[in-house]
Amino acid sequence: MSASQPLRYLLSNCVLPANEARILLAHLLEKHYQLPRSALLSRDDMMLNIAAQEEWQSLVSRRVNGEPIAYILGKKGFHNIELQVGPGVLIPRPETELLVDIALAEIANLNKPTKVLDLGTGSGAIALSIASASPLAAVIATDQSAEALAIAKQNAQTLNLMSQVEFRQGNWYEAIDPENQFDVIISNPPYIANQDPHLIQGDLRFEPESALTDFSSGLTCLEAIISDADKFLKPGGLIAVEHGFDQSEAVVDLMKIAGLIDIQVHLDLAGQNRTASGRKPQVLIA
Ligand code: GLN
Repeated sequence: MSASQPLRYLLSNCVLPANEARILLAHLLEKHYQLPRSALLSRDDMMLNIAAQEEWQSLVSRRVNGEPIAYILGKKGFHNIELQVGPGVLIPRPETELLVDIALAEIANLNKPTKVLDLGTGSGAIALSIASASPLAAVIATDQSAEALAIAKQNAQTLNLMSQVEFRQGNWYEAIDPENQFDVIISNPPYIANQDPHLIQGDLRFEPESALTDFSSGLTCLEAIISDADKFLKPGGLIAVEHGFDQSEAVVDLMKIAGLIDIQVHLDLAGQNRTASGRKPQVLIA
């Protein structure tokens, strides 16, 4: 390795896009020197010690190989919380904050203790953001992956939300007793179709396949979740799911077939239909 160089040299000579280089170097400064991000500017003449220099090379080459920034840092901000993430869980996406906002609006509206079910919780992003933002929420979060549940539980502990969120292992409703009915069900299931070229591009190559694709049309998990919602929702209860940009009509149809009413589609920040919500009727129509 070449002789030590000041931070400003490391940044200006890095092969990565400038914003990514700054994120990785700020992470390193915090880890090795407990310095804030502002040190990138205020200490730009600083030289890294050998250990930090070696780590800098390794972080840069991991990123050059395509590893997502969130896995390299081991964390990702989502809604109002920060989550520990690793290759066992999907990296929480900004568009999924929509589901959190829909659930929080419903809880605010009900204005009483609210039972929430998060299906396929992954890192716990949705369940924990809701619990963190509303003391009225009592959440059950499920995932079929033991590895994901371990990360989600760790996040709940770090965020001090264990008393509000219960984790259960199982596929969709498998771990839930139908006697147990919820005010709100939310899910960001795997909805990418098995032959979608995105699966072999960018960050997605590093994420768990089972969190991204249903290995089929993209709609099978959404269908399983929507078609059984009626059994697990209280009368008048709300279900909201995230889906692919081109799945809105199909998901709305699934909700109609399931007998849900008050069906609404919600746009993500890019202006795409990204979630659909519906309600179980108060009185079942004969
Ligand atoms: N929104 C993710 C993506 O397209 C997919 C997440 C999912 O399948 N639930 O990158």
